[in-house]
Amino acid sequence: MEEELIQIKNSAVSLILDAKDKEELWDLKIRFLGRNGRFTQAIKELSKLPKEKRPEIGRLANEVKNTIEETISEKESQVTKQRGRELKEKIDTTIPGIRPPIGHLHPVSQVLYDVVDVFKSLGFQAADGPEIETDYYNFEVLNIPKDHPARDTQQTLYLDTRNAKVNPGEIILRTHLSGMQARTMEKIKPPLRVIVPGKVFRYEQVDASHGFEFWQVEGFMVDKNVRLTDLFGIIDYVLRKLMGEKIKIKFATTNFPFVEPGVDTYMECTVCKGKGCSFCKMSGWSEIMPAGMIHPNVLKAVGYDSQKVSGFAFAIGLSRLVTLRYEMEDLRLLTNPDLRIINQF
Ligand SMILES: [Zn+2]
Repeated sequence: MEEELIQIKNSAVSLILDAKDKEELWDLKIRFLGRNGRFTQAIKELSKLPKEKRPEIGRLANEVKNTIEETISEKESQVTKQRGRELKEKIDTTIPGIRPPIGHLHPVSQVLYDVVDVFKSLGFQAADGPEIETDYYNFEVLNIPKDHPARDTQQTLYLDTRNAKVNPGEIILRTHLSGMQARTMEKIKPPLRVIVPGKVFRYEQVDASHGFEFWQVEGFMVDKNVRLTDLFGIIDYVLRKLMGEKIKIKFATTNFPFVEPGVDTYMECTVCKGKGCSFCKMSGWSEIMPAGMIHPNVLKAVGYDSQKVSGFAFAIGLSRLVTLRYEMEDLRLLTNPDLRIINQF
């Protein structure tokens, strides 16, 4: 048995020293020290030896086992170092790495953040509202009853309510953000200054300056003695901050059921510099911000005293503002996922 152990040791050490990689060393470890390995099998015979021989052979067995383990571990660190040296020769660690692509804000988000910043500097707070709205908040409370012709100008997308406990046509995708006027005013007493950025939806023919889904920023201010001139001042200040001092703005009277009087704000088309193009429908001007003094009926509907407080409201066509700021000829480019477009901003 003594001889057999020494033979196992010599054979293991010589094979280990010849091993080329970690896998080979692992195989050798199993071959000698594993459950069915040569060494493990050999020492099973230990119990068959006469008692007086056992301590001596036991010591030898321990020594053989230690030698095999140590040789494996020394050889292992040797092949690891060798592998590192080989890799270093093959890999040039001084070559610069590949820079991962870094995203940036979409142009709509960039302008939106600017809009929010300007209004915050004027004391406005930003609020958020539901994209799925009720007919009541989107129309009724805003002085637009069921049979009002103004509904025709806001082509509405209705939700399928056949399995819901509401009347048909009661749940819609919001056509504007004005529903947030009532939702906010019902909760907060004046004075208040609020802006509501968000997406709105209309069943509309899509063209260069119209989309069926687009961004707006609704805003309203209610306080004692708020006048139309305050509205003009704020629109003028905000648009110049956002679009540059040199822009041309004009106001025109218009009619919306929820304001009295109603005002439409136009900005000179930046695409054609006022000469007329397909974006501005050859008019040289682009409608950008309908507004007006909040109708007393709306104030009454939310429980405000229209004799004591007054206010104005406006809606910025944010998608259109973005296209005008960057002189884009087509609003549809804003929803085009082509990175060659997006990466220009
Ligand atoms: Zn134009």
